[in-house]
This record gives sequence, C-alpha cells and structure tokens, in this order.
Amino acid sequence: MEQKSKPFDPAQVRMEAHELAPGVFAVMAADIEKTDHTATNAGFIIGRDAVLAVESLSNGELASQLIGAIRKNTSLPIRYLVNTSYHGDHCFGNFVFPAETSIIEHEFTKNFLDENFEQDRAFMIDLLGEGRGIEEAVPRSAELIVEGRICLDLGGKAVEVAHIGFAQTEGDLIVRLPEENVVFVGNMLQAPPPAFPWLLDGGHREAVETYRRLHEMLDDETIIVPGHGKLMHREEILFHVRYIDELSKQVGKTIERGMSLEEAKEEVRMEDYSSYSMYEFIHFEVNVPTMHGELSGGSS
Ligand SMILES: [Zn+2]
Repeated sequence: MEQKSKPFDPAQVRMEAHELAPGVFAVMAADIEKTDHTATNAGFIIGRDAVLAVESLSNGELASQLIGAIRKNTSLPIRYLVNTSYHGDHCFGNFVFPAETSIIEHEFTKNFLDENFEQDRAFMIDLLGEGRGIEEAVPRSAELIVEGRICLDLGGKAVEVAHIGFAQTEGDLIVRLPEENVVFVGNMLQAPPPAFPWLLDGGHREAVETYRRLHEMLDDETIIVPGHGKLMHREEILFHVRYIDELSKQVGKTIERGMSLEEAKEEVRMEDYSSYSMYEFIHFEVNVPTMHGELSGGSS
C-alpha cells in the first residue's frame, strides 16, 4: 500500500491522562489539540477492587507509558485489558502487561492475531516506520473472548464490553460505562470531523448500520473516546455516515458509466472532506478503491 505521510510516529508520542468522570480516564497523545489525527488513544477505569485498561498501543514503550499513568493514580491490580481491534497500534503493547491481566478481545481479533501477527507487524512497520519498537512486540492475544456483550464489575464500577457490529473490522469492540456515560470506541470512529472512516476491510453497508446503532445507543451528553483524535459527541457519528453514503453514491455512478478505478479516483474527489490530514491517502488509496471493488461485486 502506498504511504506518503505517516499517521504518527510512535517514537515521539507522549501520552497524557485526562479524567473524564470519577475513575474514568482517557489517555491521549500530548499533541491532541494540534492535529486532526493523533497516535492511538487509550484509557483506564479504576474501580474499588481493580483496574481495566483500554488498548495497549503500538509498542512496549507506549504501553509502559499507559501503565505509568495508571500507577500514578492507583496501585490496584490491572485485571483486564481490552483490545478494540486487531490493529497493531491498539494491541502490540499487550506483552508488557503483567501476567495477572486478562486480555479481552472479540473472537475474530484473537483468531486474526493468532494467525496473522507477523503479517500485521509488517503492515504496521510499513505504516508507522522502522525502529519504532514494533519489531520488539511479542505476540500475546486474549484470554477472554467477547462475541456479544459482557459486563464486568471492578467494584462499584460497571463496565460493558460489547461487539455492536462490523465497523472497521469483524472484531470491533466498544467499552462503555453506562453510569458515567462514557464510551471508548476504538477505530470505529477515528476522530471527529473532518476525519472520516478508513474502510480498510470494506463492509461499508454494515459499517453504516453499526454507526446508526451506536448513534441510537448514546445520547447528546455521552463522551465518546475515538481511536485517534479528540473526544467526540454523538452527532458527529452522522458525519461518518454521510461520508460513506456520498462515497457510495459517487463511486456507484462511476461504475454505471463504466469507469475504471483510476478514472473513478479522478472523478470522486469529494473535496468537502479534503481538509482531513489523511484525506489524500485514505480517500484515494483506501476508500475509493475499496468502494469500487465492493460495488463492482468484487470480494473486497
Ligand atoms: Zn488505530
């Protein structure tokens, strides 16, 4: 896959914890206010008895920064770690968590990592660069599998981990605190507008359904922690839906007119979305080709 600018440099990232509600923290890159696409977000939730962490990030060093942020706030055991998808920037730091931590993934994610870790490592090195700690990552996948929804009690703190449908991968999980009205959604939502979905695994129809389901589940007060950017609000989910609807309509027209993929890329510019820093790469190299393949009846 052609890659011009790297989405972020894992070697340069400094993570900072922000308390969103009592005991509920988002851990985000320090430059989050300066860009529309940052390093992967993480988080942690502290109950009376234990801690649950969300994501282990791109490498052991970033995972250690997350563990350090947890340790500044509590000495309770980190009982759970949720990976919201198989993407390496969400789970390559798993190996530095203690043995007492149970890793939670969707079944698809676990199977994918067990079978394709080296392939994903190569993809991540290609995406983020060599010498960024990705070479040192040691495979470690889930001990606990979620297919539908589980509820965990950390001691006075209820956490739901759920698969609400395909969004970016077959195994997307969300981590939701119903009481505190906070939800971690991983790459299902990359970042607030102008960011739009990355259709790396296709499935745009299911993705739209999942976005609508998420929109239904939440309310206007919900704090959404996306995969790679500032905190989001419910209404911003619809921006993602509009992008996919528009992309599907425009690519569909190019197919009706018998255009090739290269002609479709020329035609489907959707410049309203061009202010996103990842637009050139994701729109033209990932999303238009994926949509063209899907609407032409291809397998992608
Ligand atoms: Zn990611």
